[in-house]
Amino acid sequence: MIESLEMEGPRSDEIMVRLVASGICHTDIDLCDSWDEADRAVVLGHEGAGWVERVGKKVKSIRRGDHVVLSYQSCGRCIPCRGDNPAHCQHFYRANFGFQRLDGSNALERSGVRGHFFGQSSFATHCLATERNLVKVTKDLPLEILSPLGCGLQTGAGTVMNSLKVPKGASLAVFGTGAVGLAAVMAARLAGAHPIIGVDKKPKRLHLALELGATHTIDNRRQDVAARIAHVTGRGVDYVVETTASPQMHHLAVDVLNPEGVVALLTGESGTDSLPEGRKTLGIIQGDAVPQRFIPKLIKLHQAGLFPFDRLLRFYAFGDINRAIADAKRGDSIKPVLRIGEG
Ligand SMILES: [Zn+2]
Ligand SMILES: [Zn+2]
Repeated sequence: MIESLEMEGPRSDEIMVRLVASGICHTDIDLCDSWDEADRAVVLGHEGAGWVERVGKKVKSIRRGDHVVLSYQSCGRCIPCRGDNPAHCQHFYRANFGFQRLDGSNALERSGVRGHFFGQSSFATHCLATERNLVKVTKDLPLEILSPLGCGLQTGAGTVMNSLKVPKGASLAVFGTGAVGLAAVMAARLAGAHPIIGVDKKPKRLHLALELGATHTIDNRRQDVAARIAHVTGRGVDYVVETTASPQMHHLAVDVLNPEGVVALLTGESGTDSLPEGRKTLGIIQGDAVPQRFIPKLIKLHQAGLFPFDRLLRFYAFGDINRAIADAKRGDSIKPVLRIGEG
């Protein structure tokens, strides 16, 4: 439902962004599906991109007119944040899923609606962000292409490049070749991993995985995943990136692992290192990326033709948000992007 709301202007440490586009991520869709009608309405969206319309007095690094991509929020004060590790912010849940600022206030209060989702709420024409979750980007590329870098693509690529630091020649399987999984495939190709095995139940997505860097694919509706992985790798795999959140796939990921192998869980679950022979699972958030460094890096790789994430995108008018969500649920749209305003 698209409605007009009243929003406060930016506080001294905030920036008001005029949104040009927003990606739709599975977290938005899951929250939509599980929302209780009795709860207060919220503005979702957490892959926004746009230009800066107003800047609070204390903001130093951002100016009016800058092009920006929005990412996840962090507090900036806790030990992980001060240690340059904001994905482990001690207030991560409250800052991103609290639907309010960390001080408990809410800029949409007067309309009886809650915002500040991931420090943005980007399914809107305007939103408030801070220097911590806003990334200044080049004006050479359209903002509608850059918008999904802030969550899904950063998570998939960051898992391979930052969290696992996959070395050249390591074997890797990606369970679920949606936007997050395909970003992991592209990053694995950049890292020189081999083989790179894509596992999914949608043949169209597996086909794209092959084009983007997978050396092998497995259709898990038709093939025995464990047997195929054993056949391709000779014994087991060094890394599994698990994006499906299916308990069955989680177990399978551990079963196909080499000794010392690692499963990266991109599903909100936490990891464990008490598995036999040095195997472990790691719960990973946002690919351990510091957005202000990692997103410009992904943009440079994209411009060099090495991270062609634009191939995952499908564009929709803002008013067609429900159709975009339906297409994403059916798997017909890998990364839907809403066109919200003029670039
Ligand atoms: Zn923090
Ligand atoms: Zn997301």
